[in-house]
Amino acid sequence: MKLPKNFKSNFNLKENNSLKLNYFCEYFVSCDSKNDLFLIHDFLKEKKLKFWIMGDGTNIILKNNLNGLVIKNNLKGFSIYKNSIIIGAGEIWDDVVSAALDKNLYGLENLSGIPGSVGASPIQNIGAYGSEVSNFINYIETFNLEKGRFEVFSNQACNFSYRDSLFKNNPHLMITKVCLDLSNTFKPNTQYESLPKEVINAKEQRQNILSIRSLKLPNHKIIPNVGSFFKNPVISESKLDELVIKFPNIKSYLFKKNRYKVSAAWLIEEAGLKGSKKGDCGISDLHSLVFYNFSDQSDFLVTYSLEVKDIIEEKFGIILDYEPSIFS
Ligand SMILES: Cc1cc2nc3c(=O)[nH]c(=O)nc-3n(C[C@H](O)[C@H](O)[C@H](O)COP(=O)(O)OP(=O)(O)OC[C@H]3O[C@@H](n4cnc5c(N)ncnc54)[C@H](O)[C@@H]3O)c2cc1C
Repeated sequence: MKLPKNFKSNFNLKENNSLKLNYFCEYFVSCDSKNDLFLIHDFLKEKKLKFWIMGDGTNIILKNNLNGLVIKNNLKGFSIYKNSIIIGAGEIWDDVVSAALDKNLYGLENLSGIPGSVGASPIQNIGAYGSEVSNFINYIETFNLEKGRFEVFSNQACNFSYRDSLFKNNPHLMITKVCLDLSNTFKPNTQYESLPKEVINAKEQRQNILSIRSLKLPNHKIIPNVGSFFKNPVISESKLDELVIKFPNIKSYLFKKNRYKVSAAWLIEEAGLKGSKKGDCGISDLHSLVFYNFSDQSDFLVTYSLEVKDIIEEKFGIILDYEPSIFS
């Protein structure tokens, strides 16, 4: 059976996940071309294997060695048509933000500095500083690994919402291309509380975002982490009213009619867990949503995150949800 040239057996994933977890997968393939996709489909069909798609591994937690095939998306490409850019899923997200600005195409500034690949950006609808990638997506091309064919989704068909999309629950759809519609006029988005309100141009806005991020988020290349470990929970108005009586300083925002987003960072801080430690893992003292891990195994990290979830549930009656994907 013909296999893509970058196909490996018993592959160590340590250098492919930002937590630097030392787990192996049975098979690993870097998908570099459309032809590779068809070969991978045939291989999966014949072997009936479990599979996982990954980009740069900055939002995954490996729980153990993986029995099956890990497919690393490495499909490149960048082209511009009027105000739209069409990008291969294996490109680096932040390189695209920077390249768009160089071409005087605006909109992505507030999403500067988010690690990872373009193909992963729609999965959890990446967002930061009052912006989300779904605001710019025109269409997404995917390869259906079960059916062995390309399928295209309009923005509306992607069912985007806060840190969620259709793709999160359909892991057989491998994103191969993303088309973003940008603007040739810079309209600064400075609504987020810590952003300077006066900006001269989009490059300055990008620099402001990068500076704030470097102060608030530990660098995953030095301190292994996956960014925010939990999503901000969304609760009803009546639940919020109940909490405000006990916790008048609770940090919340109107999400949509009668639904409020509560800051998960605030909940963790209020529970006194910011900067707490367990063995080789803990919660950053820079940002209470960032769990770090200096062990090359994930056992303690997972156990500790469950303990934190329990503490938050007991104190506030809120169940936290993981933001990263768990591979096991
Ligand atoms: C320090 C730090 C800061 C961060 N800050 C932010 C932030 O501000 N906002 C934010 O939203 N996120 C943030 N993140 C999380 C992360 O950067 C994003 O989720 C990013 O999109 C992950 O990209 P990746 O290529 O590393 O994906 P991976 O970690 O490799 O994969 C993540 C998920 O996407 C799936 N996936 C990946 N590629 C594809 C594909 N081509 N087709 C189908 N499925 C795919 C995987 O199966 C997995 O479920 C941060 C992470 C770190 C480490």
